[in-house]
Amino acid sequence: MTYLLDHHPDQYPLESYRRKQLLEWVFKHGISSFNEISNLPKSAIAFLEENFELTAFPKVEVFPSSDGSSKYLFTLRDGKQMEAVLMPYQDRVTICVSTMVGCPAGCAFCATGRMGFGRNLTAGEIVEQVLVAARDQELAPTEIRNLVFMGMGEPLLNYDNTLEAARILLHPDGLGMSQRRVTLSTVGLPDKIVKLASEDVTVKLAISLHAPDEETRKTIIPTAHAHTIEAILESAREYQRASGRRVTLEYAMLAGVNDAIWQAELLADILRGLVSHVNLIPMNPWAESGFRSSSETRIQEFYDTLQARGVPVSVRRSRGRDAGAACGQLAIAKTPRVISSESA
Ligand code: SAH
Ligand code: SF4
Repeated sequence: MTYLLDHHPDQYPLESYRRKQLLEWVFKHGISSFNEISNLPKSAIAFLEENFELTAFPKVEVFPSSDGSSKYLFTLRDGKQMEAVLMPYQDRVTICVSTMVGCPAGCAFCATGRMGFGRNLTAGEIVEQVLVAARDQELAPTEIRNLVFMGMGEPLLNYDNTLEAARILLHPDGLGMSQRRVTLSTVGLPDKIVKLASEDVTVKLAISLHAPDEETRKTIIPTAHAHTIEAILESAREYQRASGRRVTLEYAMLAGVNDAIWQAELLADILRGLVSHVNLIPMNPWAESGFRSSSETRIQEFYDTLQARGVPVSVRRSRGRDAGAACGQLAIAKTPRVISSESA
């Protein structure tokens, strides 16, 4: 048995127009079983059932948040678990997907980092998160038009599978997403960012900078020992040139760690020459993290300092905090509702 969603749309296992029909059932109708297909011959359905698995998730649970977002907890065939978060806004729906079980990068303020590394997800396991969330929300999969690779894991350390997932998401016969509405967030791995700049996929790039000075960055992000801020910014400039897109810099506001006004001033200095946008994210709390969010006043002062120096900046409040679904909280269990289970 192979997992159907791991295949690129051009390589779906049927000929010509039947292949197109199958793709429509999977990506436009979001079927959960080959039996739901009504316009393929019985022999084709039997062939699919004998040779292909349509889901990689024996169990899915959902944790609704009071703000309308939902966290999905997926159990994989090997028993490992990972999560995605669906966020409905007035004019759009955004999904935040995982690229790994856990994460090897080990950032100090991130609950996923504290879990350690489980394994890489396959391309299909990344894509299926969208299909399952859509089904639960009674949406066609293609109605989820915005996607961020900001769930568990470091996408650029699962480079090939993340890129293959992006190709399936963007493919007109897949989910047909627009590159402008897909964002890849990375801890900042310069070689991989430069490589990404040379690919056919030019999604939006977000870099988790979180500090403008090496000393502070090294205390919260272990990969900072291997990659300097200057090398990261140089790769960001290259990505910006190649993609023509503004690069986002993420900055979690950690009280007493990276929120001094001199750090805002230094950040403005080092960003000169990069077409960018800074997102200040109040730190989302989790038990035993040892970090607190900066105060509202300090976040405002930090914001004002950047703005006064001409840096485009916004404050981004995470959704789903009460469901353990906000940035950096993935890994924390709350009481779920089981929405599908093979043993049920
Ligand atoms: N590994 C990638 C993408 C997943 S993390 C990355 O690090 O960019 C998504 C974002 O959430 C990153 O910017 C990350 O730094 C941020 N984050 C992690 N823990 C957080 C927390 N407790 N509060 C706010 N943001 C957090
Ligand atoms: Fe991994 Fe990103 Fe969390 Fe760092 S912030 S541990 S890179 S998921």
